[in-house]
Amino acid sequence: MKSHARAVVIGGGVVGCSVLFHLTKLGWKDVVLIERSELTSGSTWHAAGGFHTINSDPNIAKLQGYTIGLYKELEEISGQACGLHHVGGVTLATDQERMDLLTAERAKHRYMGLDTHLVSPKEIAEICPVVSIEGVVGGLYDPLDGHLDPSGTTHAYAKAAKMQGAEIYLRNRVLELNRKADGTWDVVTEEGTINTENIVNAGGLWAREVGAMVGVYHPLHPMEHQYLVTDDIKEVYERDTELPHIVDPGGETYFRQEGRGLVLGIYEQDCDPWGVDGTSWDFGHELLPDNLDRIAEPLEAAFKRYPCLAEAGIKTVINGPFTFAPDGNPLVGPMPGVPGYWCACAVMAGFSQGGGVGLTLAEWMIEGEPSTDVFAMDVARYGDFCTNTYTREKVKENYQHRFSIVYPNEELPAARPLKTTPAYGIWDRQNAVFGSGYGLEHVNYFAPAGQERYETPTFRRSNAFDIVGAECRAVRTAVGINEIHNFGKYEVTGPGAEDYLNIIMANRMPSVGRITLTPMLSPSGVLIGDFTVSHISQGRYQITGSSTAQAYHMRWFEKHLPDHGVDVKNISLDRIGFQIAGPNARALLSKTTRADVSNEAFAFLRVQEMEVGNAPATVCRVSYTGDLGYEIYVPAAYQVSLYETLAEAGKDLGLKPFGMRAMMSLRLEKSFGSWLREYKPDYTPAETGLDRFVQFQKENFIGREAAVIARDTPPKRHLATLIVDADDADVWGDEPIFKNGDVVGFVTSGGYAHFAEKSVAIGFLPTDMIEDGAQFEIEILGDMRSAIVNNTPLFDPNAERMRG
Ligand SMILES: Cc1cc2nc3c(=O)[nH]c(=O)nc-3n(C[C@H](O)[C@H](O)[C@H](O)COP(=O)(O)OP(=O)(O)OC[C@H]3O[C@@H](n4cnc5c(N)ncnc54)[C@H](O)[C@@H]3O)c2cc1C
Repeated sequence: MKSHARAVVIGGGVVGCSVLFHLTKLGWKDVVLIERSELTSGSTWHAAGGFHTINSDPNIAKLQGYTIGLYKELEEISGQACGLHHVGGVTLATDQERMDLLTAERAKHRYMGLDTHLVSPKEIAEICPVVSIEGVVGGLYDPLDGHLDPSGTTHAYAKAAKMQGAEIYLRNRVLELNRKADGTWDVVTEEGTINTENIVNAGGLWAREVGAMVGVYHPLHPMEHQYLVTDDIKEVYERDTELPHIVDPGGETYFRQEGRGLVLGIYEQDCDPWGVDGTSWDFGHELLPDNLDRIAEPLEAAFKRYPCLAEAGIKTVINGPFTFAPDGNPLVGPMPGVPGYWCACAVMAGFSQGGGVGLTLAEWMIEGEPSTDVFAMDVARYGDFCTNTYTREKVKENYQHRFSIVYPNEELPAARPLKTTPAYGIWDRQNAVFGSGYGLEHVNYFAPAGQERYETPTFRRSNAFDIVGAECRAVRTAVGINEIHNFGKYEVTGPGAEDYLNIIMANRMPSVGRITLTPMLSPSGVLIGDFTVSHISQGRYQITGSSTAQAYHMRWFEKHLPDHGVDVKNISLDRIGFQIAGPNARALLSKTTRADVSNEAFAFLRVQEMEVGNAPATVCRVSYTGDLGYEIYVPAAYQVSLYETLAEAGKDLGLKPFGMRAMMSLRLEKSFGSWLREYKPDYTPAETGLDRFVQFQKENFIGREAAVIARDTPPKRHLATLIVDADDADVWGDEPIFKNGDVVGFVTSGGYAHFAEKSVAIGFLPTDMIEDGAQFEIEILGDMRSAIVNNTPLFDPNAERMRG
């Protein structure tokens, strides 16, 4: 065994082998893989080998498309067959809601360039005669669906990697991972120690154990999963062509041909987490005992859906474990707080996603950043809020929902509440309907007395529509109060703070008492953050940004932190409070403080420390509602006291609480973008309009070179706001935008702007097509809706209220 390698990949399943292959493909030859047994000794050997492109995140769907397209190349490079069967597949809809979902998926695929199409029950019966179409209202056909040989494919990755310079050491368990003073890692194995700058955890079923070797907990859990292989079936083997895949989400099953018989896999409700206390190192090439009782109900449904099964004998039952993260997407990328340690874990669909995971990780390790936004599978999307129990409950819920419709407004209930702020009880007493983000409860809206505290999951306007409308009007006509814990907040202090921030942020940092909006760019000039920076006192800054990106942003802040002179702390739950917004906001604030909060003394984009009631507060004159407003931050222990003060003073000013649904509606009236929708690492400041916050005169900030090029080359596409002629459904995001029948753009987000009484979409369009009044069409749930560009804010177009 070598004594040093540039990267050591731990685990020879399909994911580890793909990572190894991609590292060599992108130029690192001095890389090794260590496998405790033979290749494919974890989940990989007993996989059903199916692959597909559908994923709720468009970029992951694209990476799945990449994975499927890679297999031919892999066979050519390695000479090893992957056993490919490109048979296509149909996802069935047995009710209108599912059809809505498939229709929305198909619409999304149009701008992604995926060739899926909707099929009628009659067409389904023609494509796959062994399916009973009873109760089927339609389906979505994907020509890219298929299956392969899991072992052959894993060996093809491994062989191709070896041909390109990698080494693989089998039957050699990694025992310890020790970080040395010089920042490199000693990987201690049964056969000796190997030193490296980069470790990749591709430990699959043992990823938790490998994580523990570096002192981290990965939020993933194995679940048992069963599929049946039947004996020969006449209706199958008498055909000239292979049957396509069928997914019957209503029946919780997937199905494909296997030789002369069939494979039937089940995602059952009565499912079982496996390895609750960890995965034993002795677990090897063995299966778990079958448990047909657990799948009795879906089996019964399957016999109806595929009548030929009723007569077929069962040749084998495969029951094996594989790992999931709480949301079912992989955990990939550099682990925050552990330099040189990379994750490629929780890949629950290794044959759809393995190639994309390998490519992404190799780009990140070698080029410094992935080429597309992969937040949906970034290990940093979970931060450190997950406990083992939370993870297990969420993973189980996700498994149960594998084939369920996940609605855009849906809040899944398992393992909640996890984290709450002191105000939780206050909201609870006011009939709040809660949502959750980054493990923390937030209010979506307040149900009127006597009404159910539950928002019906739907693609259309929900039962909360009118209630949210009333909350928006309360803000715009009087004053609203809303919690601001839903931001990620960071304190940057020290004599070097200004210089440091001027390097990592694209705008110039504000002077004391002022607030600046700024993007943060990667070296390639794409957006990796969008922040409000308040310079509270000399050398002390508060930065607020997206709540879900806390670990993602801290990872970047820490990576660029100088050795001394600057301290960065995540204070998201230490500094909480409320925003008050609306025409009466100033009157409310002035009733609660002795500070002069007149517009002359405390103008827009100013920050000031003052006592509000008896709480020591930092007050920022900004509001994401786009109205006259203030964000009032206090130490967490003062939050309840602050609320009492504001509530009492607001009684005769029309003060009303509002939730996140209203907040997101209000921001649409100002075309304010939001993180991961309008702003994310797929877009540049020039494309989004955030270039107005890039300070090109600063000589040195990360991403400057790329930003200058982008400035000098006007972007081909740009964000625009459109007013949509919607009916009972507004856009959510990812809908295609058409001009004369051609897809020319896509929606990033939108919804109903209640105060303006308009349905709004924000999205990307070709720059030369954007002018006020330009007409387009947006496909919403299969209907073409007229949409007209309107880049003038619907509310307060001259910002007189916001700045006044
Ligand atoms: C019944 C079943 C059906 C499935 N069907 C499909 C399907 O149709 N399509 C699909 O895409 N996916 C399917 N899957 C999921 C698929 O199997 C996984 O996504 C995939 O195998 C994950 O691969 P991996 O490389 O991450 O992990 P694993 O296959 O678990 O590999 C991890 C490897 O790491 C090694 N290792 C761990 N720790 C160490 C250490 N300390 N030192 C050295 N080596 C170590 C292990 O020995 C193992 O070989 C199915 C899974 C099951 C259980």
